[in-house]
Amino acid sequence: SVRVRFAPSPTGNLHVGGARTALFNYLFARSKGGKFVLRIEDTDLERSTKESEEALLRDLAWLGLDWDEGPGIGGNYGPYRQSERNALYKEYADKLLQNGHAYRCFCSAEELEKMKEIAKLKQLPPVYSGKWATASDIEVQEELEKGTPYTYRFRVPSAGYLKIDDLIRGELDSVVKVSWNLNTLGDFVVMRSNGQPVYNFCVTVDDATMAISHVIRAEEHLPNTLRQALIYKALGFPMPKFAHVSLILAPDKSKLSKRHGATSVGQFKEMGYLPEAMVNYLALLGWGDGTENEFFTLDQLVDKFTIERVNKSGAVFDSTKLRWMNGQHLRSLPSENLTKLIGERWKSIGVLTESEGSFIEEAVELLKDGIDLISDADNVLKTLLSYPLHSTLTCPEGRPVLEDKLGEVAASLIAAYDSGELIGALEEGSAGWQKWVKSFGKSQKRKGKSLFMPLRVLLTGKLHGPDMGAGLLLVYKAGRGEVVAPHSE
Ligand code: GLU
Repeated sequence: SVRVRFAPSPTGNLHVGGARTALFNYLFARSKGGKFVLRIEDTDLERSTKESEEALLRDLAWLGLDWDEGPGIGGNYGPYRQSERNALYKEYADKLLQNGHAYRCFCSAEELEKMKEIAKLKQLPPVYSGKWATASDIEVQEELEKGTPYTYRFRVPSAGYLKIDDLIRGELDSVVKVSWNLNTLGDFVVMRSNGQPVYNFCVTVDDATMAISHVIRAEEHLPNTLRQALIYKALGFPMPKFAHVSLILAPDKSKLSKRHGATSVGQFKEMGYLPEAMVNYLALLGWGDGTENEFFTLDQLVDKFTIERVNKSGAVFDSTKLRWMNGQHLRSLPSENLTKLIGERWKSIGVLTESEGSFIEEAVELLKDGIDLISDADNVLKTLLSYPLHSTLTCPEGRPVLEDKLGEVAASLIAAYDSGELIGALEEGSAGWQKWVKSFGKSQKRKGKSLFMPLRVLLTGKLHGPDMGAGLLLVYKAGRGEVVAPHSE
């Protein structure tokens, strides 16, 4: 049965790269009727924090990637935090020692340093010389009696290649062999002298004892896979299948990093992105269903996803496209959901004090076509609510300038206002407004830009903004921007 895992280290935020790895694992599990396991890799005690773990869980849950086993919910293969699995690591490290695949190394830090220097001089790879690999029982016993600290070192086979199957880096039968030359590796530590197991060892013991069938992770773990595969063999564990997902690149093709802007899921959430859009966009970073279609819900992705279609070349993170995609998802949300989201946001950031639902509904209806992010609506609404209707004309400094420049239009607009014609039109709603604009244009012998520009400036005091008629109506309805005679002085 299919069992996959996402294994973040709680040393920072969930980044788009990690989120995509989690998503591919999730999609693989769900599409195969398997299990999606969440494991917290907190072996690095100094850098791991509880806050980071909590944030990771929160961000994953926000994306909708619910796990079947893991912290908080448990499961048959727990505990799901590495820091709680030390007894298990010790047990398997001792097993390696017993079966001869590991040995005790009593080298001091200074000695190891010297070894590296010598290797460098001889132009050899800077790997462990193997000093204690062949020590006799008596030599070992002597050091143990002296109480010399020791590490467990893994005995890397002295010759040969190691190959693993990778489901992504593949052509033939969708499997190509990834291989390494073992003589550049050197015997590596699996357990430190303070009893702390080493990362690669923990991962292997965990994946094996959690019965993980497929390890889907970032390409940068390929060197780890080599060590882990050797440990699998030495412990007699069946090898899982591997799939190494290529890097996410910045538009300049360098590795995506903070200097390219927002990269963490939390930041995108804060900026007003929808989880639906994030998930959709992340899936497209290295995957497609083979058609032109790019719009997918999470359920549709589960339906379409196959690991064979994951691309082995790097995918470029295009924040403009993500933004666009967010707009697509935003407009495809049921109206009431969008209204709720935007309404909550407005109230929380204080853009809006009114709580009447119908105002928000109308505002959302008006604004939604022009926005990509929930947060885009903030500014559009602020602009709307600041429509002065009259203030440019009544403003002592503004009025003479405007009258000078827009003289005739300004005078007629004032007249239309005074006669109640403009207000009457607004009261009739959108159709009324349109009818009025048309006849006003005719009377001025203006249309298009030459009509709308002066009107906009006169009525809103701004050169640009959302649809003027709809905006004015909204303001009028909201009882905001009280309509005052433009020439009242
Ligand atoms: N803990 C590792 C990381 O955060 C993942 C290890 C793995 O997937 O094997 O990158």
